[in-house]
Formats: sequence, C-alpha cells, structure tokens
Amino acid sequence: MRIKKLKLVGFKSFVEPAELRIENGLTGIVGPNGCGKSNLLEAIRWVMGESSAKSMRGAGMEDVIFAGTASRPPRDFAEVTILAERSDDGDAATDGDQELEVTRRIERGAGSAYRSNGRDVRAKDVALIFADAATGAHSPALVSQGRIGAIISAKPQERRQMLEEAAGISGLHVRRKDAEQK
Ligand code: ATP
Ligand code: MG
Repeated sequence: MRIKKLKLVGFKSFVEPAELRIENGLTGIVGPNGCGKSNLLEAIRWVMGESSAKSMRGAGMEDVIFAGTASRPPRDFAEVTILAERSDDGDAATDGDQELEVTRRIERGAGSAYRSNGRDVRAKDVALIFADAATGAHSPALVSQGRIGAIISAKPQERRQMLEEAAGISGLHVRRKDAEQK
C-alpha cells in the first residue's frame, strides 16, 4: 500500500484545509519546532484507527480538534482523509492497483465516524483494511517521536505484536477476536 495524499481539516494545528501530495521516493518534512510535523504523522495514525488519545498526546480524543488560538475560534470537528494505492498481487481478476480513500471525522460530543471509498464503515473495518496491508495505527513503520526508546524497552509480548504487524498477520488476530465474540 502506498499513501498518495493526506487531507486535513481542523485537525490539531491544521485549522485550514490542507492537502499534501506524497510522491514516490523519500519525503521529508522540515520546519521549526511546533510547526506541526509530528501532528502530520499523528494524522496518519489517527485516520488508520488510533483509539488511544494518550498516544495522540491528548487527554481525550476530542483534543485532536483545533482548539483555537487568541485570534481564531476553536473548530467543532476534525477530519483526516488518506488516499492510498493498494496493489493486489496475484489476483488476475482484480489486476492493477486499487484506489483506497479512507476518511475519519470527529465532532465534539459525537465521537468518530469512518468512511471508506464513500461508504460508512466501522472502526473495525478500517483497522482490518490497514492490518491486511501490513500497516495501520500501530504499525512499526510509523515511529513517533520518542518511540525508539519505547521499542527498545518493550516487553516480549509487545515486541511480538510489533513483529506480527510487520509480518502482516495482525489482521488474523482481529478476525479471530471477532469470531470469538460471535
Ligand atoms: P518538534 O520539532 O518540536 O517536534 P513539531 O513540528 O513536531 O515540533 P507538533 O508537535 O506536530 O510540532 O505541533 C505542535 C503544535 O500543534 C503546538 O503548537 C500545539 O499547540 C499545536 N496543537 C496541537 N494540538 C492542537 C489543537 N487541538 N489545536 C490547536 N493547536 C494544536
Ligand atoms: Mg515533533
């Protein structure tokens, strides 16, 4: 899966609609302290289903909504859209790349809602889409500031989870949990 575009509205410091194209190859984001570099990585994790407010550096999930400044009023929703290309290897029937568009929106007092290619979906569905593509909110490919130390000192169980995500089998665990609940 390759991320092609990231769109943000009212997410953290990105109060005005922002659209970032991510080209092939290496992309670097540079800027002074506090300009929003980490917020962009958090936006990617958030749209992939991150459910921990703490790991988004907030007390509650609504803290991702632009909180306002001296000159700008706060917003009442935040929305992040990710556009990706899914390569479907091996299946001749669905040859070629598939476009994937996932949006997550949070409104004050109303919680989060997800859409995938225009259809309302559950958080669980979004987690599965990304887990099967060996990525997702907890993918070891997304290393937040300060996480290197955390990975080094992780407990064996946590480290196993990281390896499973890297191996692309964490989708199986989501399905098993789902089946056990039925
Ligand atoms: P550094 O180089 O120090 O790591 P950075 O570029 O990674 O900085 P971020 O941590 O992404 O910066 O951005 C922090 C900024 O985002 C702060 O100015 C903070 O006030 C702002 N911010 C975070 N959440 C919100 C919010 N809900 N509403 C408005 N601004 C927010
Ligand atoms: Mg940072």
